[in-house]
Amino acid sequence: MNIRIGIVGYGNLARGVEASVQLQPDMELIGVFSRRQGIETVSGVPTYTMEDIPNFKGKIDVMVLCGGSATDLIEQTPMVTKYFNCIDSFDTHARIPEHFANVDKVAKEAKTATLISCGWDPGMFSLQRVYAEAILPKGKSYTFWGRGVSQGHSDAIRRIDGVLDARQYTVPKEQYLEAIRNGETPDVDGYKGHLRECYVVAAPDADKAKIENEIKTMKNYFVGYETVVNFISQEELDRDHKGIPHGGFVLRSGESTEGTRHVIEYSLKLDSNPEFTGSALVAYARGLYRLAKHGGTGCYTVFDIPPAWISTQSAEELRAHSL
Ligand code: NDP
Repeated sequence: MNIRIGIVGYGNLARGVEASVQLQPDMELIGVFSRRQGIETVSGVPTYTMEDIPNFKGKIDVMVLCGGSATDLIEQTPMVTKYFNCIDSFDTHARIPEHFANVDKVAKEAKTATLISCGWDPGMFSLQRVYAEAILPKGKSYTFWGRGVSQGHSDAIRRIDGVLDARQYTVPKEQYLEAIRNGETPDVDGYKGHLRECYVVAAPDADKAKIENEIKTMKNYFVGYETVVNFISQEELDRDHKGIPHGGFVLRSGESTEGTRHVIEYSLKLDSNPEFTGSALVAYARGLYRLAKHGGTGCYTVFDIPPAWISTQSAEELRAHSL
């Protein structure tokens, strides 16, 4: 029998999950649950309200939660965990322990299994950090993000007076990547390692110098970063900057014995952040389904799922073709 998938919340990530489920030979999408009425899905799969969720008990194996991390998942993941095994992409790193504890309590009481914070960061990048640090205990780890669109920073620029539209790219600084790849261990943090590149559409009568100054002095967003502001037309923004690309690098530079150096590098170059994140969630939905079949209950992360469990291949096939 196929793994029966439900989606809760229908935005960019949900459409990525929907597309990825179509590619899986062992899954089917049962429905989408939304706070809004009358939405249409890309695949034509039926939509339901949040109140309908409990009625699907026994008809859905894993619910993929696609709400936003800022306010939705903190509430929705424990709520849906009462009825179903769930997976989410919660990416507010500082609040992961709190979210884990809330979900774990509900899941243990309900005897369900929920995997939180899947995606690429947290998610695939987290796995690479664990592998690299376990293999090279003596060394230094680095994470760089980009080149990619930061939705949060783009929104923050759009809120400035006189700004009509904006896109902000986070760009890793090549000189640090090169140094690490050459076996050096430069002293670089997130601020020093990234450039913030802004493309801004200003109103015709707006004071561009003032807008640029407001961007560069915005606390928690741009202060501390090298920031470049480019003013462009709406046509240029729509033509050249409409995608949601992202990606980044996890690197570890270390040594096994004095002077014997090793560099581990994992990189992602994503045309679409939500489509890739959705693909990771779907693969791990399979892993979670198998974990639940093995009797797992409570809250989990990507660290708890064996790689073989996310694959569509059998253990024999994996040994023959992927070892
Ligand atoms: P969206 O803003 O597109 O969707 C979030 C929620 O907003 C949806 O679940 C939906 O809920 C509601 N919504 C969507 N579109 C509309 C609309 N037109 N009008 C009103 N409400 C709408 O966010 P994303 O899908 O882009 O991202 C979701 C989360 O994924 C992010 O908050 C981020 O935390 C996480 N993420 C995690 C990553 C990782 O690597 N771990 C990477 C990328 C993202 P409803 O249908 O109920 O109204």
